[in-house]
Amino acid sequence: MVGFIGLGRMGRPMASNLCRKGFRLVVNDVNPAAVQELESLQARAAADAAEVAGQSGIIVTMLPNSAVVREVVAGPGGILANAEPGSLVMDMSTVSPETTDELAAAARERGIGFVDAPVGRLASHADRGESLFMVGASEADFARVKPLLEGMGSTIYHCGPVGSGTRTKLVNNYLAVTSCQLNAEALGLSQRLGLDLERTLEVLYGTTAVNGQLKIAWPNKVLAGDIEPGFTIDLAHKDLTLVSEAAHAARVPMPILAAAREAFSTARARGFGTKDFSAMVDALCDLAGIEKPRLRR
Ligand code: NAD
Repeated sequence: MVGFIGLGRMGRPMASNLCRKGFRLVVNDVNPAAVQELESLQARAAADAAEVAGQSGIIVTMLPNSAVVREVVAGPGGILANAEPGSLVMDMSTVSPETTDELAAAARERGIGFVDAPVGRLASHADRGESLFMVGASEADFARVKPLLEGMGSTIYHCGPVGSGTRTKLVNNYLAVTSCQLNAEALGLSQRLGLDLERTLEVLYGTTAVNGQLKIAWPNKVLAGDIEPGFTIDLAHKDLTLVSEAAHAARVPMPILAAAREAFSTARARGFGTKDFSAMVDALCDLAGIEKPRLRR
């Protein structure tokens, strides 16, 4: 039996894809509606993390942040206190490297395996089973989780030992999240200058100015008028904070990171925290009194 805790925007499609591929799941989330949706796919509902852990050989967590993951994995009544020795925890949330390292050590002490496997690409990729996973694991644990990862995504990278998935994810999200702010500024300027959006995008897509957010994500989100998440500005701000802490600890100067994080702070303060991270351009346009960029279609 596979345990799955955290059935939000990402965990729900990931767990659903496992159910559809024939894995038997026992699931938990503090939101009962999320659990009911999985029950309709024959997953078994558990009252709490302890009940999930007691019934599962592998327990997947897909939770919002480091504090929640620590509580669910290592807190009293959590996974490690209730899982059998020989079982394995695979945390797929985006958390701090310290969180991953500490939980992996605590799991090891109890004879429980630990894998960090954060998720790349968009929520819409997770819906289609096309996520990318960056995995930190021993060779043996990687082999053990690979069939599950193949059930949830299409691209799997074994980045190195435990902790290397989380660290790779921070590097990835630095670029993915910061490019939203760059795009917001560029398109805000283009709107203010009265340029045609479609033609401007054609130009940007044809030069080295192009980036994944602008070409792959934004045309179906903010530029189409859809700012429901996806990936929220609150979570993006959390990730830039994780990157900032990691950069400070490693003594790596990242001045653009500091500016980008405060742009996300401003967007949150203006009420955009629960919106998709592509809505950074709407936050900037609101602030500057600029018409929001929308494709004609
Ligand atoms: P989300 O907020 O939609 O989902 C989190 C889920 O965890 C919610 O259903 C919530 O009810 C549940 N939860 C919270 N506390 C809990 C607890 N104590 N016990 C059980 N369930 C609990 O977030 P999400 O967008 O699904 O993201 C999850 C993680 O994946 C985050 O770390 C995020 O940074 C990362 N991530 C998100 C995306 C994305 O596009 N949304 C992409 C890659 C990675």
